[in-house]
Amino acid sequence: MNSDYIRKVTPYTPGEQPKDPGIIKLNTNENPYPPAPGVEKVLHEYDTDILRKYPDPTVGKLVHAIADYHGVGDDQVFVGVGSDDVLSMAFLTFFNSDKPILFPDITYSFYDVWADVYRIPYETVPLRDDFTIDPEDYVRDCGGIIIANPNAPTGIRMDLSCVERIVSANPEVCVIIDEAYIDFGGESALPLVSKYDNMLIIRTFSKSRSLAGSRIGYAIGDSSLISYINDVKYSVNSYTMDSITIDLGVASIEDDQYFRQCADRVMSTREWTVGQLRDLGFAVLPSSTNFVFARHGYIPAMVLFEHLREKRIYVRHFNGKRIYNYLRISIGTESDMEKLIEVLTQFIERERA
Ligand code: PMP
Repeated sequence: MNSDYIRKVTPYTPGEQPKDPGIIKLNTNENPYPPAPGVEKVLHEYDTDILRKYPDPTVGKLVHAIADYHGVGDDQVFVGVGSDDVLSMAFLTFFNSDKPILFPDITYSFYDVWADVYRIPYETVPLRDDFTIDPEDYVRDCGGIIIANPNAPTGIRMDLSCVERIVSANPEVCVIIDEAYIDFGGESALPLVSKYDNMLIIRTFSKSRSLAGSRIGYAIGDSSLISYINDVKYSVNSYTMDSITIDLGVASIEDDQYFRQCADRVMSTREWTVGQLRDLGFAVLPSSTNFVFARHGYIPAMVLFEHLREKRIYVRHFNGKRIYNYLRISIGTESDMEKLIEVLTQFIERERA
């Protein structure tokens, strides 16, 4: 067969999912706490006869629960199988111009992969030296914009006024705001939804709702955008979300108190961890997420990465030009982070001696 006829892509590399339960896993920004108690109840009481039938293609119950929660109409919500699915559908739907789409040079490393697979031209826009986004860089002719806010892997948030500057300066194209980490201290663009019909917010249940294993993501935007993305979804796969997951998502949304408690706990553990890392000689970027991005004063990131791995603590390292000396460390339980600090302290003291 002639390989010229094959669509070739360099795929995204997901973080490792080790099988060994003894490993302290701080490499994929999962939540260390279990999902809401109502989620477990749904699973225990599930009537398996339901699985004979196809699920609701509109994911109506979950769309309604999410719309209600955010105070928007059901026709302003789109649900997908994790926010990766929602993002992928959004790229396919809204980035259909010959002009390049724009996103930061340091951001979620799936964006360039979707651009490549869908043959979308793109340009990356360098972050400032302090890894913040300059909104003025996005005030220019382009085919669309995608920005993670807070950004990953930096963890740095952008103010709502900056998001609005970008959205309002680009009325002709779709501006996607990926709010995967918004619940850990970011400022959401939700108040802008009623004002701008060119902005789509994308969120996930994987981080703040502890449901990475269930794969639930959603988009909120003007009803015309939601209608377009639904048309594309129904042209690819009508039954995306399974029946069980729909009910699990509803149970999660219904328990707001538990959700907030878990997010608060992660944020306070984060602040403790940041203080400890700084004491150990790390420069830590200001994080509004459930991870920190940190660089040690003199020990290369790869050396620390390997040592932590030997001690069965998994963190993430990226090879990018400006970030190869940083480690991205997800926030685990208090005891996970105490162990991390203990291992780092011993190693750094040995290096100093
Ligand atoms: N956006 C960003 C910025 C992320 O870091 C992630 C997690 N890898 C996602 C989206 C996708 O998350 P999920 O598909 O689990 O919803």
